[in-house]
Amino acid sequence: MINSWRKETICVQGGYNPKVGEPRIPAIVQSTTYKYDNPDHLAELFDLKTSGHMYSRISNPTVEAFESKVAALEKGVGALATASGQSATLLSILNICSSGDNILAASTLYGGTFTLFSSSLKKFGVEVSFVNPDLPASEILSYAKENTKAIFAETISNPSLKLLDFEKFSYISKTLGIPLIVDNTFPTPVLCNPFEHGANIIVHSATKYIDGHGTSIGGVIVDGGNFNWCNGKFPELTEPDPSYHGLSYIKEFKNLAYITKARVHLLRDLGPALSPFNGFLLNLGLDSLTLRMERHSSNALNLSKFLSTHPKVSWVNYPKLEGHPSFELSEKYLPLGGSGIVTFGVEGGRAAAKKLIENLKLASLVVHLGDVRTSVIHPASTTHRQLSDEELAASGVHGDLIRVSVGIEHIEDIINDFVQGLDSLKEEI
Ligand SMILES: *Cc1c(COP(=O)(O)O)cnc(C)c1O
Repeated sequence: MINSWRKETICVQGGYNPKVGEPRIPAIVQSTTYKYDNPDHLAELFDLKTSGHMYSRISNPTVEAFESKVAALEKGVGALATASGQSATLLSILNICSSGDNILAASTLYGGTFTLFSSSLKKFGVEVSFVNPDLPASEILSYAKENTKAIFAETISNPSLKLLDFEKFSYISKTLGIPLIVDNTFPTPVLCNPFEHGANIIVHSATKYIDGHGTSIGGVIVDGGNFNWCNGKFPELTEPDPSYHGLSYIKEFKNLAYITKARVHLLRDLGPALSPFNGFLLNLGLDSLTLRMERHSSNALNLSKFLSTHPKVSWVNYPKLEGHPSFELSEKYLPLGGSGIVTFGVEGGRAAAKKLIENLKLASLVVHLGDVRTSVIHPASTTHRQLSDEELAASGVHGDLIRVSVGIEHIEDIINDFVQGLDSLKEEI
C-alpha cells in the first residue's frame, strides 16, 4: 500500500504499522538490548541469518520506524539512520572506499562536508578531487582515476544555492561505473527525489528540515537499490567479508547489499548510531514535512522577491527567482518549490552584512537552518571560516553573503523585520 501512497500520506502514515493493541505512535524504545530465549537464535542474528533487533547500536524499533518512512519518501529500497548528517556522509563514502581510493566531489559543498573531505578523509587515505560542477562532463570525467569510487554532490548547494545538473552528473557516474551520491538535505524528499534523476545513494542531514524544530542532530543514508556493484570496482560488497565468516553482501542481500553493509559493518564497528529519542523526534518532524516545505518555499520566494527590490540589497540568490543561473534546472528538478534558503548581499560588504544581522529582531542568528523559525548567518565568518579565500570562492561564498533560513511565520512579519533591519542600516552607513 505504502508504494502507491503520495508523500502527504507517507509522511503521516508511513514506516510504522501497529498491530492490535500496540501504540498508535511508534514508542520510544529506550532500551539498548532485546531479550532472547536461546543462544542459537542470538547466534543466527549475529551471523545475519535471521533479522531482528539485538543491540541498539545496530538497530532499534523507534529508529527503524524513522528509517522506513524516509526510505518510502525517497522511493529507495532501504535507509540507515545515523547520529548526524556528517556521519551519514562519512559512512556513505567509507562503505565503498578504503585507503588508496579516490572520489570526485562538486566543489560547492556545505563547509562541514568540505573539511570532512579535504581534511579527515585525506587522513584516512581517501583522496577527494574537487571539481567545479559547472564544467562540461568531458572535463569533469578527466579528473577521474582508475581508483575513483564515487561522485558526490548536493542537490541544492549550501550556501551557493546551485542546482545539481542531474543529467550531467548521472551521465558521468554511469560512464565511470561509479555511484552518484547526493546530499538531498535542502530540498528534502518532499521537493526532490534524486533516485528519479539517476542518483544511487542519498544522504540527509535530518537535523535540518526533517527535524524542522531545532531539537535533534541526526542523519540518514538511503539506498536506491539501483546500482550494479558487480562491475569489479567494489570487492567489499561482492567478495567474502571475513568479519562475517566470509559472507558476500551481494549474494546474501541482493539490492540491499550497500545499506546492509553500512549497518552491520560500519555502524557495528564505528558506532555513530541515532538515539531512539532523537529518532522519535525526527519521525515526528516527518509528519508535517510536506506542509512545512510548501510554506518554507513560498515564504522564501516572497522574501527573495522583496529583497530584489530593496536599494540596500546588492544581489539576491534564490533558485526559483527568474534570471537565476539555476532557474531552468530548478523548474525541472524542484517543480513544487525551491526550499527555504535564500542568500543575499548588502551594499557595504562584510561590515554591513554583520550589522544587518545585529539589527534583525525576528530572524535570529543561529548556526542552523531548516527550522520553523527564521534565522540568519554570515557563512564567511562562521560555517565556512575554515576555508581559504580560494576555497571560499570555489564554494561560492562571498564576504557580504547573508544566508537566511526562511521560517514558516507569516510572510509580512518576516519581510517587515528585514525592512526595519535594512532601514536602520541606511542611517548608520
Ligand atoms: C548541516 C548539513 C550537513 C551536516 O549535517 P549535521 O546533521 O549537522 O551533521 C550536511 N550537509 C548539508 C547540506 C548540511 O546543511
